Amino acid sequence: MSHSVFYAELPWPETERRVRAGAPVFLPLGATEQHGRHMALNTDVVLPTSIAARVARRVDGLVLPAVAYGNRSQPKTGGGPSFPGTLNLAANTFSFIVRDLICELYRQNVRRVVTVNGHYENVWPTIEGIELALDAIGRDRAQGLKIIRIDHWDMIRKSTLERVFPSGYPGIELEHASVLETSMMLALRPELVDLKQALNDGPACFLPYDRYPEPPPEVPMSGVLSLTEGSSAEKGEWLLRDCEDGIVDIVNREFFAR
Ligand code: ZN
Ligand code: MN
Repeated sequence: MSHSVFYAELPWPETERRVRAGAPVFLPLGATEQHGRHMALNTDVVLPTSIAARVARRVDGLVLPAVAYGNRSQPKTGGGPSFPGTLNLAANTFSFIVRDLICELYRQNVRRVVTVNGHYENVWPTIEGIELALDAIGRDRAQGLKIIRIDHWDMIRKSTLERVFPSGYPGIELEHASVLETSMMLALRPELVDLKQALNDGPACFLPYDRYPEPPPEVPMSGVLSLTEGSSAEKGEWLLRDCEDGIVDIVNREFFAR
């Protein structure tokens, strides 16, 4: 028990001891969102949590329970709210959750915070939550506090993307439930993926504007915005290694000057 990197699996004296020893604390930010017919709704939770755990083992960090609900899924980046299964939070709610957790961590004397995001629509509400936390703590009182905000897909090296997509990377917006996420899930939790159910009815070709309230007809029926073809556990491991190494480097540079 006491060797776990998962904050909530520890008794309070052990979390206190590790925080006092300077442990960076990782907050995975996810979503409960459709990820095609072939993959579990918790994909955006599993990926940042698993990546954070790998990093935490290398830097003596702690991983908080993930925020398992995300800011509203959008048709062009996550299929949108009309898919069965997807449970959304409003942007305000999500940013208040981030704000409250950072304030609570500060109160618990945590000064090294890393948010690891796995859901595209969380980006701006996370930034807002961090800003609100700094307002609440008081920017002049926040000395010693450092918050790092990371989207895991930004850690993937260009050379790895070229190996994964020999005919060209479609871009992260269209990667919802596609090769990147499917490959990483195949590496981490193959029992949550069933490629036989994949329709390969993408890639979506979106128009350069949004329409409300009806989601655009360009969203593929499967909920996969690009293609799952070419996904593999081996590619998933390359991608996860980039994410892990990238975040370890950031943590070492920003918190330990090494
Ligand atoms: Zn996802
Ligand atoms: Mn998502």
